[in-house]
Amino acid sequence: MKIYNTLTKKKEEFVPLEPGKVKMYVCGPTVYNLIHIGNARPMIVFDTVRRYMEHKGYEVNYVSNFTDVDDKIIKKAIEEGVEASVISQRYIEECKKDMAALNVKPATTHPLATEEICGMEEMIRTLIDKGHAYVAEDGTVYFRTRSFKEYGKLSHKNLDDLEGGKRSLLVSGEDQKEDPLDFVLWKPKKDGEPYWDAPWCKGRPGWHIECSVMSKKYLGDEIDIHAGGEDLVFPHHENEIAQSEAANGKTFARYWMHNAFLNIDNKKMSKSAGNFFTVRDITEKYDPQVLRFFMLSAHYRSPLNFSADLMDAAKNGLERIVTAVSNLKFLLSNAGDFAATEEEQKLLEEAKGYVGKFDEAMDDDFNTADAISAIFELVKFANTYANGERSKAFIQALIDEIKELSDICGLIVEKEEGLLDADIEKLIEERQAARKAKNFARADEIRGELLEKGIILEDTREGVKWKRA
Ligand code: AMP
Ligand code: ZN
Repeated sequence: MKIYNTLTKKKEEFVPLEPGKVKMYVCGPTVYNLIHIGNARPMIVFDTVRRYMEHKGYEVNYVSNFTDVDDKIIKKAIEEGVEASVISQRYIEECKKDMAALNVKPATTHPLATEEICGMEEMIRTLIDKGHAYVAEDGTVYFRTRSFKEYGKLSHKNLDDLEGGKRSLLVSGEDQKEDPLDFVLWKPKKDGEPYWDAPWCKGRPGWHIECSVMSKKYLGDEIDIHAGGEDLVFPHHENEIAQSEAANGKTFARYWMHNAFLNIDNKKMSKSAGNFFTVRDITEKYDPQVLRFFMLSAHYRSPLNFSADLMDAAKNGLERIVTAVSNLKFLLSNAGDFAATEEEQKLLEEAKGYVGKFDEAMDDDFNTADAISAIFELVKFANTYANGERSKAFIQALIDEIKELSDICGLIVEKEEGLLDADIEKLIEERQAARKAKNFARADEIRGELLEKGIILEDTREGVKWKRA
């Protein structure tokens, strides 16, 4: 399995630190609003990486944080006149709902920055003791960037070029830094802000230290994969490396993976630019599975431009797979109860070729675009050969293959048995209309139909209520 490593700018063979295990950290969202579909891209992409690794037999310890203390959260809390934690808790819950809708598996651990302050203080103290950090007069703690000789290795930036760009910052009250390149580890509180009583001052952590500490606590000093959107390469991940490696004296992460942007009109979708759609906006119009399919229809390192046309194409693509599975299930009910024939076995061998193609695409730096093409080829193959005198074993094997590959992509391609809520409501409305028209026979028929499908109706004074048996 090859992974493109931002650190080396090369595709490298994946070799885990510990055989059979993967330690993976994915930077999560800052929770001050509903997530937009740009934020959903890393969630979907790295969930698919995780699923593929699990499929390959790895045990994946997947950690993804929520940044729950931040200027934007505090601003929103002040606007609403509530505690910052009310805002962050609200949007963590909402984010988890979106993730579930997109079939993103919950992480092994979802740490919250505000619950890890002790660890942050500890790492900052280590950095001060080792001479990698210093306390300014007002209690701000800075990382001494030049003390970490490899600074710039991830973003391939040169310290002197960086310094040129940072000089102008000196004007804006940053003159207590020893060097314009230094960055904040701990900052003093302002009025009305949440704070913790640290030895340096009452205040709160800088953003970068959070991930270094949460990764260390839940995965250890050295991890296999650290991931996030490409906007995080610099300065966030560069600073994380400096902090973690300076404090722990070990290589922080072996593979650095970054997804390209989800764009709109070829510009990065972002809250600050105002050019965003939330996951909720989109899932009002499309099945969340269509959004997931859309995200995976491009390679994760290619920019992806959001458009209604591409969403419609994604809808058609997904439907092609769903329809094939549903047809196969119909054929299954009529197929013969005998073992797969010799011809069928040969065909199944051929079908394995598409599974091979799928794996090959995924092994090549998780090329989901090509992997989905392999699913399409398998679907076409199944559509061609499933008709006629077939055994149940053969049809079932085709269904299993399609479902297995789709599941690795986190795509649900099997329609749920039974009625959806909307269908039930529609039948209840029809029953009410029938009763009004004194067509009691039809009304009873609908009640019976629903009961057969496990839906119990109850006529109450407030109207008809229903529940699943
Ligand atoms: P944030 O809440 O801005 O820290 O973002 C959370 C995650 O979403 C990070 O991994 C970002 O890199 C990623 N992200 C934000 N905007 C986009 C975008 N337009 N396209 C892809 N990834 C994004
Ligand atoms: Zn991070």
